[in-house]
Amino acid sequence: MRTSRKQLASLTWDALCEAFPESECTLDNDTPERLAIRGILSAQCTDTRVNLTCRDLFGKYPDMKGLSEASEEEIGEIIRPCGLHKAKSRSVSEFSKLFVNEWGGKVPTDINELMKCPGVGKKIANLIVGEIYQIPAIVVDTHCKRVMKRIGITDNDDPIKVEADLNKVFPEETWISLGHKAVDLGRSYCDARNPKCDICPLTDFCKKRIKK
Ligand code: SF4
Repeated sequence: MRTSRKQLASLTWDALCEAFPESECTLDNDTPERLAIRGILSAQCTDTRVNLTCRDLFGKYPDMKGLSEASEEEIGEIIRPCGLHKAKSRSVSEFSKLFVNEWGGKVPTDINELMKCPGVGKKIANLIVGEIYQIPAIVVDTHCKRVMKRIGITDNDDPIKVEADLNKVFPEETWISLGHKAVDLGRSYCDARNPKCDICPLTDFCKKRIKK
């Protein structure tokens, strides 16, 4: 009998909870605005590198007003280890200006408001509202996209469409944790080039595995 996507989602959630009960965001989380900036810097960079770099960034600019007044070049020099430093320094600069001048010193809860900041797309906005305000939102990164397609829960490659597919079959209360668990699965078993299907906790029902 064909397994529906909803059934696959339920099996996936149970297996992920058993394999990765402690999955969580690995970005440092001292204040909401700093977590948001770490989220911006995390694109194509490891969380460890972001956390280390932000010690320097917030060491030099301990408050958001000071950061909002720094030039993009000054910010770019510090965040260079995170890669894409020109685009990211612009995002950090714009984020701090919006935070100080438009948002009244509070990170917005509205995803569309957050996405006014250049460099803040749906993935980062979802991370911010989920981690800071516990608003249900799935962070669809490269790991999440890959594993969900392999399992058979989505056919899409566009992260926005993947998120919409996941939203349909996973209950809201799983959304924040789901992205973290999918990352752990991708790192531990479902490698892009060399998936360890034989020992993967999802091997009994994963479509990709079944087709091998
Ligand atoms: S069974 Fe293989 S393809 Fe499926 S999720 Fe596990 S590692 Fe990935």
